[in-house]
Amino acid sequence: MIPSAFEYERATSVDDALAKLAATGATGKFIAGGHSLVPLMKFRLNEPTTLIDIARIPGLAGVRDVDGAIEVGAGTVHHDVATSSLLRQQCPVVAETAGTIGDPQVRNRGTLGGSLAHADPAADYPAVMLAVDAEIHLRSSRGPRVVPASDFFQDLFTVDLAPDEIITAVRFAPVRAAAYAKLYQRASRFAIVGVAAALDVADGVIRSARVGLTGAVSHAVRLTAVEEALAGRQPTSEVVAEAAQLAGSDLEDVAGDIHASETYRRAMVPVFAKRALDGALARLPQR
Ligand SMILES: Cc1cc2nc3c(=O)[nH]c(=O)nc-3n(C[C@H](O)[C@H](O)[C@H](O)COP(=O)(O)OP(=O)(O)OC[C@H]3O[C@@H](n4cnc5c(N)ncnc54)[C@H](O)[C@@H]3O)c2cc1C
Repeated sequence: MIPSAFEYERATSVDDALAKLAATGATGKFIAGGHSLVPLMKFRLNEPTTLIDIARIPGLAGVRDVDGAIEVGAGTVHHDVATSSLLRQQCPVVAETAGTIGDPQVRNRGTLGGSLAHADPAADYPAVMLAVDAEIHLRSSRGPRVVPASDFFQDLFTVDLAPDEIITAVRFAPVRAAAYAKLYQRASRFAIVGVAAALDVADGVIRSARVGLTGAVSHAVRLTAVEEALAGRQPTSEVVAEAAQLAGSDLEDVAGDIHASETYRRAMVPVFAKRALDGALARLPQR
């Protein structure tokens, strides 16, 4: 439970963080909230020679309006995402999801960027990033790069993030008709199953739906069978209930562990898909 010895440096800017990381010759790691990295270091599953602290870089945290889109800095702690008035008004699903993460200690130290980079299969943000169709903004010495959330989450603890890149922010268009529903692991509050659903409705018809799932498979995925079943249909609870039945039907390798068997998780995916879709329906303007 004692980590290997390491050096500690504090970065003053994104460029400084990238330079400090490069100077370690790829043996260093960024640390933000430390709520995923430090436990790994204690088990010696990760043994960085240098920790580069990015938690106090000016401008890396914060929620802002950028030309009508919402940008959340990678260094924003979960509590500040959960309580952001901009998110609460314009994209409440993101704030509500942040509010479900862990406990007050975790929410006051853990960051959005740390969660996305770590990509725990039971993390909450990945599902909602898929549902709001977020862009993940990255930087390296080679310049900036933008990856759609739908391409970012690739496998167990694996994302489209090179070792020399830093996540600077995520950006998405406001989505009001969206909701997140999760079956909590009671001790940690990680998701046993978590579903985020967003509906785009025009002229009384669902033009498109985006449904993100976390907790059940190695990484967050879109429930495309549900999305396809909703497109072009009327936004009613009957339609949603029918589509939700398809949730998870095409998933292979659903996880079974000490928290929930594969059978239980499979049974819960449609249940929580329906809850998330019902939540999104409830946010549609009254007809
Ligand atoms: C008791 C407990 C309960 C928890 N419950 C939940 C829960 O219910 N739901 C949930 O989703 N999560 C939960 N978490 C995880 C929590 O949200 C973490 O804070 C989060 O996963 C990691 O964020 P961090 O800022 O602490 O990252 P760190 O631990 O500092 O870093 C994690 C990894 O990301 C890298 N990294 C950090 N920031 C960046 C960046 N900007 N760019 C590139 N790489 C970066 C680091 O190098 C490291 O590899 C829980 C954690 C604990 C300890």
